[in-house]
Amino acid sequence: MNFPDRAAVDEVRRRYPIGCRVVLDFMDDIGAPLPGTQGTVCAIDDIGTVHCTWDTGSSLGVALGEDHCHQIATEEEAKETLDWYGKHQPDEDARCPRCGNIMYGPRLRHAVSRYADITVCDSCGTAEALECAGLIEKTPLLNWCACVIPQAGGGKWRR
Ligand SMILES: [Zn+2]
Repeated sequence: MNFPDRAAVDEVRRRYPIGCRVVLDFMDDIGAPLPGTQGTVCAIDDIGTVHCTWDTGSSLGVALGEDHCHQIATEEEAKETLDWYGKHQPDEDARCPRCGNIMYGPRLRHAVSRYADITVCDSCGTAEALECAGLIEKTPLLNWCACVIPQAGGGKWRR
């Protein structure tokens, strides 16, 4: 096995910050998740392997130079990430995936997003209604906090 040089490993660390959401493109392993599977980066080791918690439950690493993944990059990929977080939102004091503010109290008291299967804060719910009415410009899902700010992994928000 060829050990990658320090610069290559540093480049992997720059491209895949801990907690970012990635999509698997290719993994040369019989037990690999299917291409298109999303996951959360949990570590980069000294040989540049991107260790992920895949949404399927697998934790196989993406080997530098052999396997391929990319950070979520399309609205469809962002929606899948948001749907995933929606299944893991805390029932109390959850963080709004759109603006990042804490939604105090029971989650069910807040707004249901029109764009993904997830709860958003009341202000963001109002903003979505205005967007859908064509009164303000739509915020791309890729710009939502849950897609931009690194996560703690396993679908949980970093606090
Ligand atoms: Zn919000």
